Amino acid sequence: MKSIIKKKTYKAIYRLLDRVSPIKGDCGKLCGAACCTCGGDSTDEEGLDYDLGIYLLPGEEKLFTMKEEWLKWSVEYAEDYDFPDSWFGKVYFVRCKTPPVCPRESRPLQCRFFPLAPHFSPEGKLQLIWSTSELPYTCPLIAEKTELTREFKKATYTVWKHLIKDPLIFDLVEMDSSDRESMGIEYEVIYQI
Ligand code: SF4
Ligand code: SF4
Repeated sequence: MKSIIKKKTYKAIYRLLDRVSPIKGDCGKLCGAACCTCGGDSTDEEGLDYDLGIYLLPGEEKLFTMKEEWLKWSVEYAEDYDFPDSWFGKVYFVRCKTPPVCPRESRPLQCRFFPLAPHFSPEGKLQLIWSTSELPYTCPLIAEKTELTREFKKATYTVWKHLIKDPLIFDLVEMDSSDRESMGIEYEVIYQI
């Protein structure tokens, strides 16, 4: 899929998010890094958990060589998954071979945003909400509605403001937002400007 976001922009986004964390300190200590290590029951032939697959945003793969020893790659087709209609062609999924250990500066965007997710209000305003994804684990930050650092919320919002300039990513956020509305999924807005 052709992304309008350049590699250098993705690099700048990674650098910005490298400087922030959801809370002061390592939230992985609260839960044994559940979002890295605790998945469902299904594993592949190498024992890697299917449920922990992380998909990269369109163009994010430009930051990787696909030879990283800590990642297992799968290339799928957007048409076969629940992605927006505008998405077609290759989508890159990765699974970590050594969770929760990874080169922190290289972890994919999905790992950096969690436990927040982008949402469009009915008026089309970008908001950050607690992730509403169905997960095979409990994130204590979500469960306890922990106050996240302002730096993390602000940087994550800034990044999403840039990302949604790409029509493919805009369509993804719009699809997820309208699914929440139409399915009556409750969500809580925790940051917007
Ligand atoms: S984001 Fe949530 S699940 Fe992931 S390490 Fe932090 S507290 Fe644990
Ligand atoms: S890339 Fe790092 S942060 Fe993301 S799931 Fe893997 S081990 Fe966890």
